[in-house]
Amino acid sequence: MGLFDVVFHGSDEMYALAETAVKETLEKIGEDAPVAFGSTAYYLACIKAYTGLEVTNMAQLRDALTPIRAMMTRNRRTADIFHSGIATVMAAEVIEACKYAVNPLPYGENENPNDNKYHGHMTDAEVRELGVPLVTRDIPGFVVLIDEAPTDEQAVALIKGYQSRGIFVFLLGGIIDQAMRKGVKMGFPVRVVPVGPDIIGVSHIISLVVRAAFIFGNIQPNDYVNMNRYTMDRIFAFVNAFSPVSDMTVACGAGAIAEGFPVITNEVKDMDWRVPKSLVINTDVDTWIDCSLEARGIKLKVTNIDVPVAVSSAFEGEIIRKGDMQLEADGSRKDCLELVRTKDVREIEDHKITLVGKDIDEFGVGEKICMATIVEVGGAKMQPDFEPVMERKIHSFVNCLEGIMHTGQRDLIRIRVSKAAFEAGFRMKHFGELLYAKIKNEYEAVVDKCQVTIYTEPEKVHELRIEANKIYDARDDRVSKLSDESVDVFYTCILCQSFSPSHVCIVTPERLGLCGAVSWMDAKATNQLDPNGPCQIVPKERVVDEEIGIWEDVNEAVQTYSHGALEQVSLYSIMQDPMTSCGCFECICGIEPFSNGVVIVNREHTGVTPVGMTFSELASMTGGGVQTPGFMGHGRHFIPSKKFMKAEGGLQRIVWMPKALKESVAEKLNANAKELYGIENFTDMIADETIVEGDPEALVAFLTEKGHPALGLEPMM
Ligand code: SF4
Ligand code: ZN
Repeated sequence: MGLFDVVFHGSDEMYALAETAVKETLEKIGEDAPVAFGSTAYYLACIKAYTGLEVTNMAQLRDALTPIRAMMTRNRRTADIFHSGIATVMAAEVIEACKYAVNPLPYGENENPNDNKYHGHMTDAEVRELGVPLVTRDIPGFVVLIDEAPTDEQAVALIKGYQSRGIFVFLLGGIIDQAMRKGVKMGFPVRVVPVGPDIIGVSHIISLVVRAAFIFGNIQPNDYVNMNRYTMDRIFAFVNAFSPVSDMTVACGAGAIAEGFPVITNEVKDMDWRVPKSLVINTDVDTWIDCSLEARGIKLKVTNIDVPVAVSSAFEGEIIRKGDMQLEADGSRKDCLELVRTKDVREIEDHKITLVGKDIDEFGVGEKICMATIVEVGGAKMQPDFEPVMERKIHSFVNCLEGIMHTGQRDLIRIRVSKAAFEAGFRMKHFGELLYAKIKNEYEAVVDKCQVTIYTEPEKVHELRIEANKIYDARDDRVSKLSDESVDVFYTCILCQSFSPSHVCIVTPERLGLCGAVSWMDAKATNQLDPNGPCQIVPKERVVDEEIGIWEDVNEAVQTYSHGALEQVSLYSIMQDPMTSCGCFECICGIEPFSNGVVIVNREHTGVTPVGMTFSELASMTGGGVQTPGFMGHGRHFIPSKKFMKAEGGLQRIVWMPKALKESVAEKLNANAKELYGIENFTDMIADETIVEGDPEALVAFLTEKGHPALGLEPMM
């Protein structure tokens, strides 16, 4: 059989399974029964992407089979293989949708899919979470590993090999059992996702891919050409399929190739394929990583770091449980801190790592210890303003170590060292090695020399903590005095353009980037570290309207960096030319018409807001670098800002937020509401999910009772 026959046969097989699944499910639950994967605003995303249909019930699912079948053309041209491949993936999505229609948790009873053997569907929030790591190339690509590797050892070597290179790993079929047998930690947070027991689960992966194109690329439904162009140009994915490869897998592989994702396999079936590099037959599984990266054109940034455990951003989400812990530095119980300080280069011995106090092997198992990490840097171009920027990066640097967990910053850190890392030989000096390498690598433009000292001696750490607190306070004081008025320039950030080609963030002291990761200070440092990089200086000399936040200079910058897609941006308005969103925003706010206010919801919150929409649904109203008045993605710390929708009346428009979000911004929000409007304890007037969920009338009743100021403001629309 040639490749055409294999693809067509596999495609027919999948389609037949889909037909059967629909028929049986219809018999069970009827044609009005709802069909949804949950926590997505994109319906059955593959079907929406390639047919434009928005399937919500069984009758519509049955009807969707017709256009799927129609796509399975058989003229024996290359395009037929591609179309049939995509149709196969849609047929797989139909089968998965039937499973979810019968049981919303088809892969186990745990609400958190990471606790089940198979993850299945991925939420919109999970797709959005990938935004920043993708643009920073912390995730340089995705691999889909299908079926059983020749040996368990080879399975683990591939999974870990990809993971330690930052490649996001999806698993389908038998390799999941191989990984489990070998005790590989899996789940979305560690970027190894066991999707499903067989090739049918591939639809969940393609669903994630097409949603990334909707969310970040503003690709429209039923736009086959632009969808596949986007995935080919911007999503660096590829497939590794182990022999024996089923015909259905080959058919799905054709779909993957249509989207620009090469397939590497050790199946030597005679397949007369003509697209070079798209189908690679390589029987030496041990060489697949390099071979795959080359086929997809992925180049990795390598830094050699002298530590006995793997270093990869994939481990940032790793959790070390108490029972697996060798010891812990817990800033809430013991003196702990991290500090970056500038020093005269002549006083620094480059790459000197010092430990003052006991090492990890000298403490008892499970002990809580004191720990101070002092990083001293020097260089002609180093400025004290860069210290907090580097210091905050310690969190993600340390978290990249396999078997080490890090949370918090300053003197509120918690670091756990796992028994596994300890047994692999990890000791205190390795924190120093890691920080040295990362800082020298990332900040080479300003850091000529760097030395690290780790203290575990309790008295010494206590002294250092008192000293460090004075430094932290002085910094906070400086930052709190910064306002949009007090600085001469703003900055652009266009990092997200690799996915949202026309999106530009304008970063100001009172409005950080919508991802939450780029403050004005960060942007300033980024600009100085890399003058041709994503953060460019935007002067603010030609004011048009300071109330609404319009400057001619800002407009010019936005026009230039959006390549003409945008004309004008009002920094302080959500109604009039609001700032665009890419897709990776921490929070989204949207108008609530009954109260004249806005609701704000963060990505972590899954419940429904009083406007009847969840985070995912609200988030889908904006994105892709397009201006959408009434909806705006923004960073968490923008909420209590005096500039938050100042043009429309400011903070007093906020009527609803999830409780946890409200608490996290309460202090500053209350202080600013008092200063601006004379309101005491403003957060008590803001409703949350414990007071009202989907009901706007109940919301207005609550706001009326509290005398919320939004009710007395002019309508926004
Ligand atoms: Fe993306 Fe804006 Fe964050 Fe920059 S500041 S990374 S452009 S969201
Ligand atoms: Zn973004």
